[in-house]
Amino acid sequence: MSAVILSYILFAMAIVTGLTGIRVIAGKGKKRRVDYTIISICICSSWWSFFWAMLFAQTDEKVAWLMRTIGMLGVFAFLISVTYIVVFWSGIEGVCKKCMIGFSLLGFVIYPFNVRRKESTFYMTDFGMSYEFGSELGNNLYSIYCVAIIVSLILALAYMRKNSIRRREKVLSFELLTCTAVVALGSVLDTIMPMFGFTAFPGSTLAQSIGTLVLFEAYTYYNKSQITLSNISKFIYYSVDEPILLFDEKEKLCIVNNGTAVFLGKTPEECCELEIRDIFELEQNIFKLEGDKNHIEARCVLNQRICGLAIDKIYDEFRDIMGYIIIVHDLTERIQTMHQLEEEKLKADKANQAKSRFLANMSHEIRTPINAVMGMNEIVLRESSEPDTVECARNIQDASKTLLALINDILDFSKIESGMMEVIEEAYSVRNLFANLYTECRIKTEDKGLYLNFEIPEDMPTILCGDEVRIRQVLLNILSNASKYTKKGGITLSVKWRSVGEKQIELEASVIDTGIGIKQENMDKLFGAFDRVDEERVHAIEGTGLGLSIVQRLMELMHGGITVESEYGKGSVFTVTFRQRVINPSPLGALMAEAGTEKKHEKYVPSFQAPDAKVLVVDDNKVNLTVIRGLLKKTGMQITCVETGKECLELTKKEMYHIILLDHMMPEMDGIETLVRLKTDESNLCQQSAIIALTANAIAGMRDMYLEKGFTDYISKPIDGIGLEKILKQYLPRELMKAIE
Ligand code: ADP
Repeated sequence: MSAVILSYILFAMAIVTGLTGIRVIAGKGKKRRVDYTIISICICSSWWSFFWAMLFAQTDEKVAWLMRTIGMLGVFAFLISVTYIVVFWSGIEGVCKKCMIGFSLLGFVIYPFNVRRKESTFYMTDFGMSYEFGSELGNNLYSIYCVAIIVSLILALAYMRKNSIRRREKVLSFELLTCTAVVALGSVLDTIMPMFGFTAFPGSTLAQSIGTLVLFEAYTYYNKSQITLSNISKFIYYSVDEPILLFDEKEKLCIVNNGTAVFLGKTPEECCELEIRDIFELEQNIFKLEGDKNHIEARCVLNQRICGLAIDKIYDEFRDIMGYIIIVHDLTERIQTMHQLEEEKLKADKANQAKSRFLANMSHEIRTPINAVMGMNEIVLRESSEPDTVECARNIQDASKTLLALINDILDFSKIESGMMEVIEEAYSVRNLFANLYTECRIKTEDKGLYLNFEIPEDMPTILCGDEVRIRQVLLNILSNASKYTKKGGITLSVKWRSVGEKQIELEASVIDTGIGIKQENMDKLFGAFDRVDEERVHAIEGTGLGLSIVQRLMELMHGGITVESEYGKGSVFTVTFRQRVINPSPLGALMAEAGTEKKHEKYVPSFQAPDAKVLVVDDNKVNLTVIRGLLKKTGMQITCVETGKECLELTKKEMYHIILLDHMMPEMDGIETLVRLKTDESNLCQQSAIIALTANAIAGMRDMYLEKGFTDYISKPIDGIGLEKILKQYLPRELMKAIE
């Protein structure tokens, strides 16, 4: 009877451990190596128990031996798998790991010796068929093997326990140690005892089954403490600060996280008593919105915060709605910041507009009196032959030019700062550009006894497209600086060019001087606005420290660059590089032969005379009228001056004028209105005449504006006599021009 009971117990153990293995096999998720090892342990354990149950149920010794022989396969595989999992969990690495696994694999070598028929004797006992070992090779090897495996497992687990930092690892190692101890004790009964002539009792078989179940427990515990989606999502849900509300399929709030409780200022239980409309101001049933994911904005009734709600539908496996998740984003601060930014932008725009208005006004207000000073002075220069008077007038001319340059610099700088500086690209003559630059610089260098060389390649294209005014400004600034800061020697402008792509060239213009040079430590400060470097040396030389800062920004606007090399006390090289489109690639030829023909302080001679030409000048400022009349006196033209737009309209109805110089800013009817009325009045005799805007408004974009309004051209104040003649010459009918007598 007891034999049957033992077999049943072993069968039951085989079923339990087998089912445990199946449970792991059926478990969800991708299987890892540890999962396969546990499956192997369970199956080997089940195998072991099953064949030992069969063994003890036998009456025939031979069959019993066969059962043991098959069962022993499970025993060895079990010991190898257990060794593997202990090595894995204990974190043993290197030689120890290899030795342990390698040694456990020796089991398969021992197996054939251990199952030899002569190694064991089978006979019937009180608890069924059993056996005893002789002191044979296979038995001895097996015993040594078992003892060595158990000792190595205990050592590995002791190592794990000692080195583990986390408590869960300590618990795991303790469980495994217990399990090993149980198996060790159990195996005394059927491994060691039979060697001393005792009948083998299946102690290790029973112990390994219990050990396998303990191991499975340890495995479940180990898995639980690993990060998985299912165990971590709950943690995330509760720890996230954003309120997350879960509604069931009946749209009833059922779960809230801590973030919700804090946000609504209620306990989680109180929160769950609320309806969605108790929480948010809603115009519609948000659960009935189409689509799986929706975003809406709503105000929270309980705390008046403005929230972004992300509403997700949760489906079951039949795609029936299980519930809804609402994730709440508090947008209040963001919306407030946006409003603030909008307000600030509005303020900044207003300030910018005020700045632009200020610029336009300042430009107008300052240019008008300078126009008067320069114009009147020019008239004095032209009319007077008294040397002292001419000398005084020349000084006034120089001073007013400096003043104008200064104002222009300040205006340019403000324009760049407020982003109002524009680069206006037009075709221009390379010959004119360098010839004019040479003429302007030569006057300054000649005064100081410096040489001035222009090295312009003869193969340069003749006509380029770019902002000539700004390029001139940049080069003139660097050339002026070179002559300002050079006492001995001279200045060279060296230009190089190369083709870049089709119809585009890159220009490299270097201004080389033999002047005072710049200290290395001052190089960085050169381009700072209002920064003058080496102040004690340069304070006697006039300047504001704005020039290079403007040059650098202009170069940036033209997508070019500027570099400086300098040796203190020896001289400097300022190099600008920029690209220009080529309009006419024919070579420029020699330039300097014709450049610089203009002489300083040369007696004025008009560039043309046209006694039959009729010019009407309209300006509310009497001084300006006097200036223009005076400047054009020697051309012999018939000049009529009026002070209002109304007078202009009346006069032009009666008389035809070849050119009308029309001021923009005038009281009552301004220049633009006068122009529009003139152009729309069919009876006006000057509809076809050239009408040139005459204005002190010199800020960017003005030229385009005037042309768009219907003006033929544009002249800015202060009016330069030569420039005025040039523009009139351009628009006067050829037949009216006479050769100079
Ligand atoms: P500034 O109106 O003072 O000339 P810039 O911005 O044109 O202002 O130049 C800034 C400073 O750079 C000058 O004050 C001067 O010290 C130095 N500098 C500019 N060009 C030269 C040069 N060619 N040689 C020596 N120093 C120069």
